[in-house]
Amino acid sequence: MQIEGKQLIGNENSAKSGMSFFAKNPKDNANLDVEFNEASKAEIDAAVNLAQKAFEIYKGKSASEKADFLDRIAEEILALGDTLIERCMLETALPEGRLVGERGRTVNQLKAFAKVLRDGTWLDARIDTALPDRQPLPKPDIRQMHIPLGPVGIFGASNFPLAFSVAGGDTASALAAGCPVIVKGHPAHPGTSELVGKAIIVAAKATGMPEGVFSLVQGTTTDVGMAMVNHPLIKAIGFTGSFRGGKALFDAAVKRPEPIPVYAEMGSSNPVFLLPGAVKERGEAIATGLAGSVTLGVGQFCTNPGVVIGLANEETEVLITKTGEKMAEIDAGNMLTEGIRKAFDAGISKLKNEASVSTIGEGKKGETYNSAQGQILKTDVKSLLANPDLAEEVFGPSSIVFSADNKEEIIEAARQLKGHLTATIQGTEADLEEYKELISILQEKAGRVLFNGFPTGVEVCDSMVHGGPFPSTTDSRTTSVGTAAIKRFARPVCFQSFPNAFLPDELKNENPLKIWRLVNGELSKETI
Ligand code: NAP
Repeated sequence: MQIEGKQLIGNENSAKSGMSFFAKNPKDNANLDVEFNEASKAEIDAAVNLAQKAFEIYKGKSASEKADFLDRIAEEILALGDTLIERCMLETALPEGRLVGERGRTVNQLKAFAKVLRDGTWLDARIDTALPDRQPLPKPDIRQMHIPLGPVGIFGASNFPLAFSVAGGDTASALAAGCPVIVKGHPAHPGTSELVGKAIIVAAKATGMPEGVFSLVQGTTTDVGMAMVNHPLIKAIGFTGSFRGGKALFDAAVKRPEPIPVYAEMGSSNPVFLLPGAVKERGEAIATGLAGSVTLGVGQFCTNPGVVIGLANEETEVLITKTGEKMAEIDAGNMLTEGIRKAFDAGISKLKNEASVSTIGEGKKGETYNSAQGQILKTDVKSLLANPDLAEEVFGPSSIVFSADNKEEIIEAARQLKGHLTATIQGTEADLEEYKELISILQEKAGRVLFNGFPTGVEVCDSMVHGGPFPSTTDSRTTSVGTAAIKRFARPVCFQSFPNAFLPDELKNENPLKIWRLVNGELSKETI
């Protein structure tokens, strides 16, 4: 498959704006081949109008037809073979092994949503049958299920060029919910985006999906994304990226004449609490795990453990020093873009200029244009309480340790945390008993609370929550990883007193799809 540098507006390849850009090689910032066209407002409008037309057909496709579409996208992505991996390596400087793994995750996500569709439980079908003789008033027959919102705009993330980009978790969950998708590709990997976008179009044609069920627009200006958010036919937005970007999209969406939901995942510093029993028992292993987690993927994960909080005692000191030593053994990695590397450098400089902050260990220096040197920094909880900005996310391979004089300071540090995607406790069961309050506080602060692990590595499964209170996301009630993400793009509707023949199959008496339903308060697959 060839990369042409055009927008994919439904089934048409389009290049009408006259403006263009190039992907950059992150290793030397040189332009890569292929000139990419910037999407025009007219092209975005055409994509959304096609999506609205497609919605009328796509929403009527059966669950198994939509599932076949998702499975076929997975197959078509695999069929791109080395072409996809090679282009993605050029655009991201990520190693082959990581990208092959990420492709596997992308494919498995699509298949997981196909399975969810075939199972039907996600619809949360509920049936309350009529009680015509109820006194003083009869009870009507009421039946509820979830239906899709309509065309959805998705922003590809820079740090997961496959799993959170064009056919990533946001797209898979929106298509599964029954919503056509327009993706705004991330300008850091436009060739990768186009290849995956074309695979989706091939899958759509092969499985009889309507034109416009998927479109891809590309560009380097915020105008492209904003035009999508402000289009009156767009019904929801999915985003992974910076706080500034996510919040700007959210603010625009709520100011629309018709406000729409924005599911923006904006990252966090993912605090790790080192409790004394664990530090004593497993200090060395924790140090190794921490240095590895901080530098995984050059720290470019939203679950990177950027903040560590522990008691200021000798054992913790040894652990922190060891973490610094482990960091010194780790090679510099190449960051995804010049902008991300500059933001990392600026964030580290700012922290190092703080009088209370010292450097415990630095990774090896790199030679490439966007190489980033790992950093373990340290200060104390008193400084954090005086200046909460010290715990702000620095996106990249760094972590800052805050030492507490006593248990009360650890609890106080936890209380002042903002919203995070994850919070981790390294402890023993005796530690948990002593720091019970911490468990209660951390579930208010994060979407995922871990015990004795590290937050990087987000499992894609039914029970995963990859979300959290603001500012880690703009909507803490949901997740962007795992099958529960489908609910973001659907809403409940109920039918009152409808004749059986005119109800959707999911709610008919005979339950033709054999899905689980809550019938008069009992879960059942039976005919009514
Ligand atoms: P970004 O700057 O937030 O950009 C992400 C996408 O959103 C891009 O397509 C960008 O388009 C668009 N966008 C950003 N601001 C916008 C606005 N005001 N209006 C319309 N569209 C907008 O993220 P990035 O380029 O991936 O990296 C920058 C920083 O984001 C990093 O240094 C890091 O701090 C953070 N980040 C966080 C995560 C996370 O896990 N939550 C992931 C990646 C990055 P244009 O580029 O075309 O403007």
